[in-house]
Amino acid sequence: MAAPDLTVLGTGNAESLRYWNTSAWVRTNAGNLLIDCGFSVKPALHERGLSLQSVDSVFITHVHGDHVHGLERLGFESRYVYHRRPVLYLEEDLYHPLWEKCLAGSMGQTSCGSSRLEDFFDVRMIEHHTFTVGGCRFQTFPTPHTVGKPSYGLVINDRVLFTSDSTVIPELDAFFPHGFIFHDICLQAKNPVHATLSELIARYPLQVRQRMFLMHYGDEIDFYRALIDRQFLGVAEQGQVIEL
Ligand SMILES: [Zn+2]
Ligand SMILES: [Zn+2]
Repeated sequence: MAAPDLTVLGTGNAESLRYWNTSAWVRTNAGNLLIDCGFSVKPALHERGLSLQSVDSVFITHVHGDHVHGLERLGFESRYVYHRRPVLYLEEDLYHPLWEKCLAGSMGQTSCGSSRLEDFFDVRMIEHHTFTVGGCRFQTFPTPHTVGKPSYGLVINDRVLFTSDSTVIPELDAFFPHGFIFHDICLQAKNPVHATLSELIARYPLQVRQRMFLMHYGDEIDFYRALIDRQFLGVAEQGQVIEL
């Protein structure tokens, strides 16, 4: 298949033993973008014939370990093994929590002395919620995940919407009327920061759910597959490819 396209790298939640952290890989004719970089990123890339050395750029949706803890490995290996600086696209309000509150504790002091995020990555602050990679257009939008914590989803080329971690998003249909949606799902009966199956069914109309693949699921997903296949486009699968 010709680029650009999106490959689902991981579909699991943070607890999963069967699935990698939820993440995706966008391939364009001029570089690639890794969407989220959780602690399972290295084996997840390896399974698809990729590696940390292959990463040209990365986008982070929010600062939770299953979405950012792989940045330590990517940063260290890029700097000291591959001698390159991948681009890191960041919404402005993620910079401080990502570096000062999360990564600086391990990466802030190295054999080179005091280090900054910019020593590991070519940091690009996202302006007007839009950036492009190899002609692919990425638009960020705030998601309702953990109250008081910035988090973002992505619309890619107006073809694919990727929520990452989120509760139900009001007006999703009006905001993104066409195209595939990769939506967070929590299989527990209740959850304060993720959309549950019953909430998704109750709050999104069928015509929206029929554009929706569910991801960020737990190891019990097989029990729910028949119901999800009836009510949604389906369960997102690792290795699944969507043309952009
Ligand atoms: Zn998560
Ligand atoms: Zn999260």
